[in-house]
Amino acid sequence: MAVERKFADGQTRYENVDQGEHHDHLICISCGKILEFTDDRIEKMQEEIAARYHFAIKDHRLEIYGACADCLKKQKIPPHLL
Ligand SMILES: [Zn+2]
Ligand SMILES: [Zn+2]
Repeated sequence: MAVERKFADGQTRYENVDQGEHHDHLICISCGKILEFTDDRIEKMQEEIAARYHFAIKDHRLEIYGACADCLKKQKIPPHLL
């Protein structure tokens, strides 16, 4: 199943989603590559924050923007100069 997702950088991308599977994103703003990851600590931390605010989470998306390893290597741009 392909799902259309609009990201904060204004681009729309399609990605395959297995039902019930959750992942967060590292997004390269140079080449557009999306690296998917899940981290139990991040997931748990979000639940703890929500609980602190008595907030019931339905869904969340975590998008980290920057440069991927390939682009860093190719362009030799330090991340803080992007
Ligand atoms: Zn997540
Ligand atoms: Zn890249």
